[in-house]
This record gives sequence, C-alpha cells and structure tokens, in this order.
Amino acid sequence: MTALLRLLLLLLPILGHAATLPLQASETPILPGPSMHVWADPLGQADIHSVRQLPATAWQPVARRDASFGYSKHAYWLRLNLHNPSDTPINWILLIGNPLLDTLDAYGLDGERVYEAGDQRPFHQRWINHRQLALPFSLNAGEERQLFLRMQTDGSANLSASLMSAEAFNHHEQRMLLLQGLFFGALLVMIIYNLSIFIITHDRNYLWYSLFVASFSLYQFIQLGFALQWLWPESLAWHQRSFPFSSALATFFGILFTHGVLDLKSRHHAYTWICRLLLGASLLVMLLALSGPYSVALIGSFALLLACAVFGGIFTTLRWRDGYPPAKLFALGWSMLIIASLFSVISGTGLIANSLLTLHAQQIGSLLELVIFSIALGLRIRLIQRAEKVAQAKLLANAHQLRQEQAKSLELQQQINGGLEARVKERTASLQQALQELSMANQQLAELSRHDNLTGLFNRQVLNEELERMLAQAKRSQQPLAVLMMDLDHFKKVNDAYGHLVGDACLQHAAQRMLQRMRRNDLLVRFGGEEFAAVLCDTTTDGAIDLAEELREDVASHPCVHQDLNVELSLSIGVYALTPEADCDREQLLRNADKALYRAKANGRNRVESYQPEKPEEG
Ligand code: GH3
Ligand code: MG
Ligand code: MG
Repeated sequence: MTALLRLLLLLLPILGHAATLPLQASETPILPGPSMHVWADPLGQADIHSVRQLPATAWQPVARRDASFGYSKHAYWLRLNLHNPSDTPINWILLIGNPLLDTLDAYGLDGERVYEAGDQRPFHQRWINHRQLALPFSLNAGEERQLFLRMQTDGSANLSASLMSAEAFNHHEQRMLLLQGLFFGALLVMIIYNLSIFIITHDRNYLWYSLFVASFSLYQFIQLGFALQWLWPESLAWHQRSFPFSSALATFFGILFTHGVLDLKSRHHAYTWICRLLLGASLLVMLLALSGPYSVALIGSFALLLACAVFGGIFTTLRWRDGYPPAKLFALGWSMLIIASLFSVISGTGLIANSLLTLHAQQIGSLLELVIFSIALGLRIRLIQRAEKVAQAKLLANAHQLRQEQAKSLELQQQINGGLEARVKERTASLQQALQELSMANQQLAELSRHDNLTGLFNRQVLNEELERMLAQAKRSQQPLAVLMMDLDHFKKVNDAYGHLVGDACLQHAAQRMLQRMRRNDLLVRFGGEEFAAVLCDTTTDGAIDLAEELREDVASHPCVHQDLNVELSLSIGVYALTPEADCDREQLLRNADKALYRAKANGRNRVESYQPEKPEEG
C-alpha cells in the first residue's frame, strides 16, 4: 500500500505538467507514457506542421502508462520531450510494445527523416529488423529533443512504449527472446505431447486441446509481432485479418475442448446446443475475418471471446456444483487467465510497478491456464479409467453372481433330476411289482380256470386238452390208454337227505380218496356234477379195471365224515382201454367209457364195468 502511494506521489508531478523526460542509462526501461501528451485528430488529416502549430492547451497529458486509447478511427498524436542530462552522447531505443498498430509515424528521431512503421506497412521499411516497433535515436550530451508520434489503427490504439538505452535494449532483447522462446517452446511441447496422446488414445479431446493450443500459439505469435516478422512479412492484408481469425480459431477449438473436458454432453442438451451456437459464431467470425469488414470481425472476435468466457464460467461453475473434479481445475485455469489479464490491465494504468511479471502477466497466465487445462484433461482420463475400473469390477461381480446363480440352478436341476429319477425308479419298481402281481394273478386265474372250485381237481376243459395230448402220445408210442368214467350212486338222495353243503363235502371227500390212488402220470378231473373222469396212460383194460376196483373199494369203505355225520358213498365206474389206432378220437374214448359206466349203473351200481362192443342184434 505504501509502495503504491509512493508511486502515485512520484507520478503526480509528471502527470501535472509537460515534463521533459531525462534519459539516464539504466537497465530498467523507462515508461514514457505519463510524460507524454496526446492530441486526437478525429479526421486523421493533420500533418506534422499543423501539429507543431497546435496551442499548448490542445495537448492532454497521457494518464495511462501504456498510452492506451481503446478502439477508435482517430489518429493520435503523441508528444514527448526528451533530455540527455549526461555529458556524453547516448543511443536510445523507443520500443513500441504493440506490434499490431496499423501505422506509426515518428518525427524527430533522425533529423527530418520520418520513421514510417506499423503492421500495415511492409516489414522491410523498419529501421530495425524487430517484431515490435523499435525506434532508434541519439541524443548528444545535454541535448533536449521533442518527439512526435502519430498512431492510427483499426485495432486497439495502445502504444505500450518503453525507453531503453541501446545497450539495455540489447540485454532486454536477449532476455525477451529467451522468455518468448521458452513460452513458445512450452506451447509446442504441449501441442506435440497432446497430439501424441491423441494418436495413441484416439481421445478427441486431446486433438481439440492440441489444436486449441496451436491456434492460441498462432494468435500469440501474431500478437507479439513474430508472425509478420517471420511468417508473412509482405502479406499485410492477411496479417491484418489473421488476428481476429486466429482468435476465433482458438475460440472454436477451445469450445470443443471445454465441451469435452467438462463432459457437457452427458449433462444437458442445452449445454451442447449453446456450444454449437458458439461454434457457429466462431465460424462466422472466421468468415468475417477472412472476407468481411475488419472492424466488425475484430469486434465479433472480442464479443465471441466474452460470450465464451461467460458461458465457460457458467458451465465450469455448474459442473463444479455437480461434483465433477476436472471442473475445479478448469475454474482454476480460467481464474489464472482472468487474474493475469487484470494484472496486465492494472499495470497498464500505472498503479503497480512494471516488472517482468507485469509485462508478461498475460503470457504467464495463459501458460499456467494451458498447463492446468492439460492436467484437467488428464484428470478426466483418470476419472474415465476409474469409472471403467468400477464398471469392470461391477461386470466381474455380475459375472460371478451369474456363475453362482447358474451353479445353483444346475444344482437345483440335478436335484430335480435326481428326485425325478428316484420317483421314476420308484414308480417303475411299483409298476413292475404291479405287473408281476398282475401276471401272478393271471397265472392264478389261469390255474383257477383249469381247476374245479369245489374239489380242487382239474376241470373238464383240462380233460379235453390233456386227453388229446395223451391220445396223440399213445398213438405215437402205440401204448395202451385207458379212460375211467365214475359217478357217485344216488347222490341226489344224499343231497336230499343231508343238504347240499354235506353233498359238497362228500364230493370233496370222494375226490380226495380217488386222488390218493392215482399215479403221477394219471389225470383225474371232475367231469361235472357228481361225475369224475380219469385218464391212465400206458394202462391196459386189466390194469384199468384193477385201479377202478381199488377206487370203488376205497370210496365204499371210507364214508364221508362231516359234522357228526357218517355218509356212506358208492361209486359206479365204466372202463374203456385200448391201444389207439390213427382214427381213434377223444369223443370215442369218452363215449365208450360212458357206455361202460351206464352198464355199471344198470347192473346194480357200486361196481366196475368195462366197455363191451355192442353185438349186432340177432334176427
Ligand atoms: P344215480 O345212481 O343214477 O347216478 O342217481 P343219482 O341220484 O346219483 O343221479 P342224478 O343224475 O339223478 O342226480 C345227481 C345229483 O347230484 C343231482 C344233484 O343234486 C347232485 N349234484 C350234482 N352236482 C352237485 C354238487 O355239486 N353238489 C351237491 N351237493 N350235489 C350235486
Ligand atoms: Mg349222475
Ligand atoms: Mg349218480
């Protein structure tokens, strides 16, 4: 604060009246702004003679150290009184820091010779081959000199003049070139580095960023006067237009880059639309710069820059509030540039002492900004990587869960299959058992169908089948075969006397008695009612009669004992035996045995009769 006051006190007398600036050799440049007086020529037609005739009251002191008058069509005449207080002649340089002045004429530097410079004059006209306007002059010992400068420009009428001894200028120049070299070197490194990253990663934001830095470098190259000196010293029309063009170009890529780094696309359609609008405006300004009126293009480029700064600030703040980390760095970058610009503006007013820092505040600020933006870009990549990692982890977790679910479902399926298999086995087993039972039942049923319910003997159907078989066998072997027909005598009476149940018991009893006497190969069946039949293989008539006698005897001598009853039974038997001829059939056997039985009944019952062929009737 005290330093500031001291500075103001120092400056006040200079501001107050038309001072003569003493030139004393020093390493620090003298800023002649406050020692200058200005007269604005609105028509720009006055010449040096009429200017020299101007009354003292026409001249106004230049308040600002950088002698800046803003944008105007006026021609500005500046008057500066110089004095060499030393006793040796000195060589000095008046350095005009703004190389973009269209025209600058200097009177009084070298006798009557007029220095005609400015970026709208061919570069080779300059007395010194320098990017800025370097005006050399000599002052003899004790000499006082009045310099007149006339500047007229479509751009900013900003002189940014400084005075240096030729020696100091040399030093200053060496330092400046080093610094500028460092500055552009840093920019070039950033361009190459980010371009390389773009080539490797194909992340377009790196391309936009490197193009942004490249166009910004071009803009700086033009603004600092290097472009006219080295790139297009004769292309004055293009040089004039290149300034707003490069500014709009840098803005264009800056918008693309900001849009990408702040990830605006993912937030809101409005963001993207505003960016598109700004991009369109940049293109328009570029078009204007190339073919429209210069001043319109210039104002357009500034308006565009302002709009971008405003929206950039808003977007950055909004994204910061979203909690998006690169936005913080972005804000830092922007504020760097704003602070640097403020610094440069304030230093122009003379409120703070000039230094390397103030002289290059904007360059330093922009460099810092670019570095910070580059870090923001990197941070964004890290965020993406982290998001990718998170997504990958989630994917892995999902895959793991899926595998678990699959395993579970497989297990379940196996369980179901196992259960199903077991149930199928169970069902098959029970089905097989049922089938077995069924077949057994069938067998039993078949067996039953072959037996007589009451006596348990085979029935008449079996007799038919077996008799057929045994007859065929006897025919083949020419062995005798015998058939016995047996009938209980007066059985009706038994039923009548004791009832049917006792009759049944008698039938069972008689059957058992007969069965006991049979041989293994013989067949005994219940023929029906109280009649039985027996087939004896390999048995002659005698053998058959013997067995029949045994049977009759057995039944007769063993009464049926049933519930205290003693039921006497007797049996009549007809016997028919033969060694069968080929034409002998089953019916014949049964018929003949039956005939023998009939005879037994007729002859008094309880007896055995063999078949006797009927004699032909006599007479
Ligand atoms: P015969 O000496 O002439 O053979 O006289 P019978 O009474 O034995 O002969 P008949 O043909 O007149 O009678 C047979 C009787 O046998 C009639 C019937 O009541 C009886 N009978 C037939 N089948 C059964 C049966 O299964 N159970 C009982 N209890 N009686 C039967
Ligand atoms: Mg009978
Ligand atoms: Mg009978």
